[in-house]
Amino acid sequence: MSSTLNGGRESTCWSPVSWKQKGIYSQQVKYNDNATLDRACAQIGRLPPLVNPTTIDELKKHFAAAARGSAFILVGGDCAENFDEVQESIIRGKYSLLRDQAASIESAMQVPVHIIGRIAGQYAKPRSQPMETLSTGEVVHAFRGHNVNGIEVQERDPDPARLVQGYLFAAATMNCLSAASRNEGREVWSSHEALHLELESCQTKELYNTSAGFLWLGERTRQIDGAHIEYLRGIENPLGVKIGPTTTPQNLLAVLKTLCPETTMSDGRITLITRLGVANVEKVLPPLVQAVKRSQYRVVWMSDPCHGNGMVVDGTKTRSMSAMLDEVRNTINVLRQNGISLGGLHLEQTGEDVNECIAYHPVDDSIKLENGERYRTLCDPRLSGVQARRLVHDVAGMLRR
Ligand code: PEP
Ligand code: MN
Repeated sequence: MSSTLNGGRESTCWSPVSWKQKGIYSQQVKYNDNATLDRACAQIGRLPPLVNPTTIDELKKHFAAAARGSAFILVGGDCAENFDEVQESIIRGKYSLLRDQAASIESAMQVPVHIIGRIAGQYAKPRSQPMETLSTGEVVHAFRGHNVNGIEVQERDPDPARLVQGYLFAAATMNCLSAASRNEGREVWSSHEALHLELESCQTKELYNTSAGFLWLGERTRQIDGAHIEYLRGIENPLGVKIGPTTTPQNLLAVLKTLCPETTMSDGRITLITRLGVANVEKVLPPLVQAVKRSQYRVVWMSDPCHGNGMVVDGTKTRSMSAMLDEVRNTINVLRQNGISLGGLHLEQTGEDVNECIAYHPVDDSIKLENGERYRTLCDPRLSGVQARRLVHDVAGMLRR
């Protein structure tokens, strides 16, 4: 790649495709036909940015403020977005949910709250196993998100044409979100996990990933010498890093050092999204916080109380709101003990009236968890609109200044 593209970072040899030198990467999708994949990516690369660099620069300032304690970042949306749910009422419902939650945190903390959807591109999922054996004995590809394949058994082969569809669905979603935010006056940004590297790199223009404002590195792709870190270290977008319970201070500092070369180091470049599980926070978090505090990195500490608190009830994946609230409470307390305030919250949620997570008082909610019409997530369970407003209301109470 030319030296103009990597903006003076020749010495470190980064380019939008330098991750390819890492060989086969974790969570890589195996397509039958790589020429079709290349053509799809080339086509997406010629399409206009979904998010412009100037907008990304604006968002960087908000993350910098959050790293200093003078702003708060709220991220929320589906675990895996569904192409079939790219509908005006559903998108507007997600927007209104974030808007209401932001107002509730703002009135408690008295700082600006910036909202970011897991939206307009959250179409690729990491899986523990690439293949799945069905009850019939048939072995098929695991569902990897609508950018890769469909949930129905006959749609499981990865299809590169879905990447182009994903771009178009993301564009339609962005259009709907910008109409919603123009009406209401609160801006909203997009985000997704930077997982599918062929897709991420073809949307990289100069040093910006123009597919979203905020991108995060997943817990399963955090290998220090891996392709995902290699790709992310070169781009200007604010970056999230999921932090699971096995993270050590040493490993965390190595990740920070790799993702923050001197050319890109700035307050709030990195958001540490802790997803430790309620039982692990008090043990695992303090040494991590102390190590980062002693370093030169000024990060945003964001709590994801969803991914460490999953459970299976009668064969159904769910989470309890009580565990989620407790994880956020413990996280706030550990940070406070170290003189830091929580800078963000990351939730899997939808504005819809789904029945996927267990409410504080299931009886009050008059629901029983069931694999029925109201359990329709493509991947992890989401808080319903009512549950998500309630949880954030309670978190806001803990953040009151
Ligand atoms: C997710 O955010 O949907 C996810 C897979 O999270 P994690 O990488 O933290 O497990
Ligand atoms: Mn998830």
